[in-house]
Amino acid sequence: MSDLRELYHEVIIDHSKSPRNYRKLESANQSAEGDNPLCGDHLTVYLHVKDHRIEDISFEGSGCAISKASASMMTQHLKGKTKQEAEVAFEAFHQMVTGKGAEADIDQLGKLAVFSGVCDFPVRVKCASLAWHTLHAALEGKSEPTTTE
Ligand code: ZN
Repeated sequence: MSDLRELYHEVIIDHSKSPRNYRKLESANQSAEGDNPLCGDHLTVYLHVKDHRIEDISFEGSGCAISKASASMMTQHLKGKTKQEAEVAFEAFHQMVTGKGAEADIDQLGKLAVFSGVCDFPVRVKCASLAWHTLHAALEGKSEPTTTE
């Protein structure tokens, strides 16, 4: 567990300093905005979906290191996945950060497993899951801004 904690720190710092896929996606055909008023995190997730597959994904926004790192890693994890696979990952991630994840589900999240430590910090759970809730809204084609509240 202490290894995972150390990795958690390294990964969060790396991704928050240089977030991957951090840009507006010009070809986006689905997008959503998300807010976490508790911490002040705000981000937009852009998707280019074709034949039920996420061809491209990006995000933009501002917030704490955890919200940024989580969004960055989410985009890496989901690029090329089908919408259905993305929904499954959303569920698995949500269960994991709230401490209810089964080991098998956590395993399939790959590198995202570093966020499993977040469940010990309830305030941070919303930071880590903001990008995923926003993604969920984008996949459902919701135009209302999503909030973690
Ligand atoms: Zn935050």
